[in-house]
Amino acid sequence: MLMNKAISDLQKALTPDNILSKLEERYAYSQDASNIPEYVGLPDVVVFVETINQIQQVVKIANKYKLPLICRGAGTNTVGACIAEHGGIVLNFSKMNKILEINRENMTARVQPGVIVGVLQNEVEKLGLFYPPDPSNLAVSTIGGSIAQNSAGARTFKYGTTKDYIIDLLVVTANGEILRTGSNTIKNATGYNLGSLFIGSEGTLGIVAEATLKLVIKPQASKVIMAYFDELTDTTNAVTSILEQQIAPATIDFMDQNALITVEKYNPIGLLTDKKAALIIEIDGLKSSIEEQKETITKVLRHSNASAIQYSLTDEETQKIWQARRSSMAACARLKPNITTDDVVVPRENLPRLVEGIQEICSKYKLTVCMVGHVGDGSLHPQIPLDFNDKEEYKNYKLAKSEIYDLTIKLGGTLSGEHGVGREKREHISKVINTTALNYMREIKKIFDPNNILNPYKIF
Ligand SMILES: Cc1cc2nc3c(=O)[nH]c(=O)nc-3n(C[C@H](O)[C@H](O)[C@H](O)COP(=O)(O)OP(=O)(O)OC[C@H]3O[C@@H](n4cnc5c(N)ncnc54)[C@H](O)[C@@H]3O)c2cc1C
Repeated sequence: MLMNKAISDLQKALTPDNILSKLEERYAYSQDASNIPEYVGLPDVVVFVETINQIQQVVKIANKYKLPLICRGAGTNTVGACIAEHGGIVLNFSKMNKILEINRENMTARVQPGVIVGVLQNEVEKLGLFYPPDPSNLAVSTIGGSIAQNSAGARTFKYGTTKDYIIDLLVVTANGEILRTGSNTIKNATGYNLGSLFIGSEGTLGIVAEATLKLVIKPQASKVIMAYFDELTDTTNAVTSILEQQIAPATIDFMDQNALITVEKYNPIGLLTDKKAALIIEIDGLKSSIEEQKETITKVLRHSNASAIQYSLTDEETQKIWQARRSSMAACARLKPNITTDDVVVPRENLPRLVEGIQEICSKYKLTVCMVGHVGDGSLHPQIPLDFNDKEEYKNYKLAKSEIYDLTIKLGGTLSGEHGVGREKREHISKVINTTALNYMREIKKIFDPNNILNPYKIF
């Protein structure tokens, strides 16, 4: 009854083709890329918005009927962050996908929330500019989703995460007001940094309706070095030695042997599958500096027991290596009917212990695990293929996950470096965020969303 009234209000506010209310249409929005069977939630209605004013109207309707309102970009988050657990309205931004302005002189871009990260990157690169945040699925994930999850990727080590590139947001608040968090300037020391509250808030505090992003200069050239190792600890030792040479590679990514084997089988590009681990090191900068960086790093790698080294000779080869690395989850998905991924992060020096510990845990629970990660910043993605219909395997998977989190914490790490908390990790959050901090977070939520309509019960 209540929902019928809400849908009738939505019909007055939006055009009919912007409202999906049939079961089969809503079903398509009942999951995200977390792929976990119990993370399913059927929204009562899905709406597409085309303007900020329409977002405000939808928010006001959700508030009037106290309905959950769940923002959805591409639905590729891996933690159940946009599951409509309690029904309600899913707000789809795929029709708000315009790059509104690229300002070459100020080196900024103003975009709508539904812009695809990879599309923005390509557009700014045509002008010699660079938007570095690079979640592996940048070909589909949106700016709104990446702001709400504070997404990051291989380039974090040198260039930072999404939060380092947000200079201004237009946020629609839970009562339909428009809140501006920053300015068009790169620097801003004027008042509280409200923008940082919304970045990583997983759609629980406000709705990102427009974002102004900082851009940097696109490096003139880049090259990838792949170094293979027979011992895990040699990988992190090699990284430390590279940094001691005062070279900051754009990426220092990691693949364990299972990931090398699985990816090579899926997408053969000549990865050496008999090695225990590989580092993917991308160097960038002035054209004239690339050879010198390459030679110095090669010397260090040899010194650090790298047992084989490969180089990309052309941009196409560089792209092939990254495509292979980014396809690791798809490659693992071929091993079993279902695929899961995780995201844990430790201080870099503890990464080999985390990798070995996760291998032991998975072997104890008879689970296959392929690990990729960003060694530069200590983050790791254990990808576990499994069959959800195999009850024993699923139970083991849950136990293994809990042990992986405990190990991560023991090694001084935390539960997410980039994928967020969502539905998946909320039951573990008090292990890493103390009660006082959690209480403040709850108070902040109440201030911004007194009726608890925005993505309710996510994160904590
Ligand atoms: C194969 C694969 C690889 C991945 N690799 C990476 C990686 O390398 N690094 C990384 O960080 N993540 C990675 N992810 C996770 C995922 O890509 C990111 O979380 C991504 O940024 C989510 O974008 P999205 O558009 O799909 O957002 P969605 O999944 O649709 O939404 C994510 C969250 O953002 C909220 N939201 C969406 N739009 C808005 C808005 N306008 N205002 C407020 N809240 C909003 C949603 O409510 C939800 O809480 C990967 C996922 C997959 C499937």
